[in-house]
Amino acid sequence: MAELYDVAVLGAGPGGCTAALYAARAGLRAVVLEQLSAGGQMADAPLIENYPGFPEGIGGFELGQLMQQGAERAGAEFRLAQVTGVQLAGPVKRIETDSGPLEARTVVLATGAGPRTLGLAGEDALRGRGVSYCAACDGMLYRGKTVAVVGGGNTAVGDALHLAKLAAKVYLVHRRGTLRAAPVYRQALDAAGVEIVWNARPAALLRGADGRLTGLRVADTASGAARDIACDGVFAAIGRVPDTALFRGQVELDAAGYLLADETTRTSVPGVFAVGDARAKAVRQVVTATADGAAAVHFAQEYLTEQGGGPA
Ligand code: NAP
Repeated sequence: MAELYDVAVLGAGPGGCTAALYAARAGLRAVVLEQLSAGGQMADAPLIENYPGFPEGIGGFELGQLMQQGAERAGAEFRLAQVTGVQLAGPVKRIETDSGPLEARTVVLATGAGPRTLGLAGEDALRGRGVSYCAACDGMLYRGKTVAVVGGGNTAVGDALHLAKLAAKVYLVHRRGTLRAAPVYRQALDAAGVEIVWNARPAALLRGADGRLTGLRVADTASGAARDIACDGVFAAIGRVPDTALFRGQVELDAAGYLLADETTRTSVPGVFAVGDARAKAVRQVVTATADGAAAVHFAQEYLTEQGGGPA
């Protein structure tokens, strides 16, 4: 028979780790299922400077490890496992994983989001051969080289600033004439010597005879004129897509695939809660993910009380 938990948390990003911490501290039997390591997308951030309590900033990977340790110390169990299927209806929810099934009375969906791809020909084959979605992970490979970051949001700008410390030359390719990123970054980009290529849409990935990336072709959004930027690496930072495919058809999603839940984190299915970046919301930050985790457990406890009986 599958083991029964009070709370199964799918994903060990900041939302999932916080839900596990709060659940364990509330005396609930909690398990976190994660396929990689704690931290989620945060683990890819070279430096997090807007999570309170770390005046010098903290590496995202380290913060993820600390969040896991805190939840484990409180009594939550972490398992390295890939979730392959879920059955979320009814009082006992079933979760299939690559290391066997488990059951839980409540489920916290904390699967986050993954990188949006550029959608260019050959992109998949160039992954790891010049195309990257993670400056913190791959930046070191481009020490002294030339790279182009695509995007105009906070991630793209943060990546460009990180890469400027390593690479000889950094381009920031943005499809409009103003950044989406917080204005505070503009001066920092100039100071770091990042060259911004405005109003430019990525049009093609250029490849050498050895199969590695040699450049990025961009098209001017007004004239359509093409320009080839010779570079060794292209870092795509053009937003995220929620990792919610497993829940489609069971929980209500919005048009973009985000889990529909308000500030209570309650989804359309009783006993199922959505936290962090996978939830439809206005502000996606580490602090809003952790806040979701706390709210989810509050309402999970309320749900468990309504269902009758205490912890499993
Ligand atoms: P984002 O804010 O959605 O920005 C995505 C950027 O990529 C936008 O500039 C967008 O252009 C561009 N883009 C989207 N699709 C594109 C395409 N197909 N081709 C070319 N460009 C494309 O995503 P994000 O930067 O990953 O940030 C996600 C969330 O995390 C945001 O809420 C952000 O504030 C937050 N975040 C915060 C921090 C921080 O506070 N330090 C750091 C990282 C992330 P347009 O501008 O024209 O739409």
